[in-house]
Amino acid sequence: MHMQSSNTIIDTDSFRDHLGIITDDGKRKNIYPKKPKGKFYNARTIFSMVLLAFLFGMPLIKVDGHPFMMFNIVDRKFILFGQVFGTHDFFILALGFITFVVSIILFTAVFGRVFCGWACPQTVFLEMVFRKIEFFIEGDYVKQKNLNSAPWTGTKIFKKLSKWGIFFALSVLIANTFLAWIIGIDDLRKIITEPVYKHLGGFIAMILFSGAFYFVFAWFREYACIYVCPYGRLQGVLLDKKTTVIAYDYVRGEPRGKLKKGEERTNGDCIDCKECMAVCPTAIDIRNGTQLECVNCTACIDSCDNIMDKIGKPRGLIRFASEDSIKNKTKFKISARVIAYSAVLVILLTVLTILISSRKPMDVTILRAPGMIFQEQPDNKISNLYTMKLTNKTFHDVNITLKLENIEGELKVIGNDIKVPSGDVTETKFLVLLPKDKLTVMNTPLEIGVYRDGTKFETNKINFLGPAVQK
Ligand code: SF4
Ligand code: SF4
Repeated sequence: MHMQSSNTIIDTDSFRDHLGIITDDGKRKNIYPKKPKGKFYNARTIFSMVLLAFLFGMPLIKVDGHPFMMFNIVDRKFILFGQVFGTHDFFILALGFITFVVSIILFTAVFGRVFCGWACPQTVFLEMVFRKIEFFIEGDYVKQKNLNSAPWTGTKIFKKLSKWGIFFALSVLIANTFLAWIIGIDDLRKIITEPVYKHLGGFIAMILFSGAFYFVFAWFREYACIYVCPYGRLQGVLLDKKTTVIAYDYVRGEPRGKLKKGEERTNGDCIDCKECMAVCPTAIDIRNGTQLECVNCTACIDSCDNIMDKIGKPRGLIRFASEDSIKNKTKFKISARVIAYSAVLVILLTVLTILISSRKPMDVTILRAPGMIFQEQPDNKISNLYTMKLTNKTFHDVNITLKLENIEGELKVIGNDIKVPSGDVTETKFLVLLPKDKLTVMNTPLEIGVYRDGTKFETNKINFLGPAVQK
């Protein structure tokens, strides 16, 4: 609570008792944000176009007939920049995920919730696609409000049906793109072009995703950020007073007060025009400070800058700033927490880079069968049994052959030929038989040549166990 003048008390904490998106009797309040205008909105529009081009374009890119990027969580097969990763790359994938989380934490600690406003798919689609279409069909916020309360005339029916139709078509497109990222564009094409019964699961997924996207972008909207998004909920622990957020400069702005014509102004720079609230897509007043609902969309910066231009005051009453920098008028400083997060991030990135760059297209591990020593065989031969684990990280199924390279003897694969499907792990057993008179030591070094489709790609060194040699 603070005194605004000798006889007015403003309850500055009352905003904590209610949500701007809920009515006093607990119902959802329809919000009609005013169309933002300004340099940040323009910059976000351009940035979102780049992101949308990436999102819609990437599943169409193929290298050697395979997707350039794919996240098949169902089959646990991932393609990143043309490289296949599977369950065998668990460490890389887990480390990649941890690195992603740490970088988000670091980024949030320094720049606040900037991801939400600029790169989150929910905000990009809602503010840069669906809301723009709504502005185009129904007009700005006042017209939208009037249209909603108007009776169902021909014009209203036409506008609403056009909007819902376009929203649904877009939701289907987004759902298809989403599926293309998961199963690849070729499998998606099959779901679309082949009879439904052949891909019933995929078809149901497509319908469900389309419905979910339509529900989120046509109705649920800001509820997703305020009630569902876990990242939003984490802000309380990720932000501190040194974090750069979208902030109202209360030192400069207060005491706020209406601008009166001809009157000499003794108040702060905020003229209490509430333009910053009018554009807010989550219906908050940023002048109350950083709030969980703020998705850093920058709309209030643009609208306040426009007001400052009109009243001849400097821009930036609402701007990217930290609480400390506003309170103490200090510049941005790197905190100990940021240094610690950065150090962890650098270590993770280094390990991740080493793991990815040292990754081979096939992994071969040969070990002597556990619990076995050697067996005496007919014709004065000794045999050892080995197990071999093969991981195929390529796009192709491969046939593997093995050869003894450094000694005369026999190598017999137990069972069928060794064939490893793409992205799969195969285990096989083989016997090596050596003439007893060739064994001069108990542990004879062996070199096994591993051939992929007839071409040698690795020599594996193992030991052959024989009986004690009599001198
Ligand atoms: S837009 Fe600027 S001047 Fe107007 S109420 Fe908001 S902070 Fe104050
Ligand atoms: S307070 Fe400003 S930045 Fe935050 S959501 Fe509202 S308009 Fe966007």
